[in-house]
Amino acid sequence: MTKSYQSWNKIPSCKPSQVHIDDWRFENLPASGKLPMTPFGNGRSYGDVCLNKDGALLESAQLNRMMEFNRQEGRLIVEAGVQLGEILELLIPAGWFLPVIPGTRFVTIGGAIANDIHGKNHQLKGSFGAHVERFELLRSSGERLICSRQQHPDLFSATIGGLGLTGMIIWAEINLMPVNSNRMEFEEIPFHSLTEFQNINQQSSDWEYTVAWIDCLSQGGGRGIYSRGRHANDGELQKAQANGCRLR
Ligand SMILES: Cc1cc2nc3c(=O)[nH]c(=O)nc-3n(C[C@H](O)[C@H](O)[C@H](O)COP(=O)(O)OP(=O)(O)OC[C@H]3O[C@@H](n4cnc5c(N)ncnc54)[C@H](O)[C@@H]3O)c2cc1C
Repeated sequence: MTKSYQSWNKIPSCKPSQVHIDDWRFENLPASGKLPMTPFGNGRSYGDVCLNKDGALLESAQLNRMMEFNRQEGRLIVEAGVQLGEILELLIPAGWFLPVIPGTRFVTIGGAIANDIHGKNHQLKGSFGAHVERFELLRSSGERLICSRQQHPDLFSATIGGLGLTGMIIWAEINLMPVNSNRMEFEEIPFHSLTEFQNINQQSSDWEYTVAWIDCLSQGGGRGIYSRGRHANDGELQKAQANGCRLR
């Protein structure tokens, strides 16, 4: 009896015919007959892209290892089921950060790549896929391919934002960005018109993260709150754990 799965909006709840929670490191995808297969990360999608009614769901929960962390060059190789929040716990004490983060820490690396997620620094860093160096893709044919901008570039591009339709990502190598502090500077600025909004926005080019809420129903239209943040320079990085290594 398979359990029901939901995405973040909880509609619809969906029961796949089969669920496979395997260790995909060495295994092939299951022979699921004619059932369509869909990878499942952590179900934080707004819509139903991670669901597969009456099909087969391939959970990535067991792909939970951090594989290699190059602290000098800022590169991380990590399995696809690891969540971004877990990664930040490892990175920040070492002075590194993910270049793109969404509004929740509970997103897996596989989900971040397959939905090519964006952050509030999209204007500076682009989306998540821009920072992926390579990944291993397990195809339904059983093939395992290392994909990068040089190797299988078409599959590399199609998998970034590909909603899991090209295969199952097993691990990925991500380029990181350096930070000097575990703290953020943050400001919230009220505005009362779109012109005011545009002025604040133009003066915010040295803020890494920017976002605004606009009340379109307000009289005259366009009042809102502009939020901007950046990594502080003068804070401290937390000390790394005693053994200096938290790789699993
Ligand atoms: C509170 C909240 C805030 C959010 N903020 C943002 C935001 O600021 N920016 C943004 O872009 N998004 C945002 N999102 C959406 C979220 O980042 C994406 O939907 C993300 O893809 C969810 O990741 P997941 O690991 O839960 O994957 P799932 O939701 O389980 O799956 C997402 C897609 O990835 C595929 N997939 C999952 N794992 C793999 C794998 N190993 N190999 C191949 N394909 C795979 C699935 O088939 C599916 O198509 C937010 C979501 C929430 C709940």
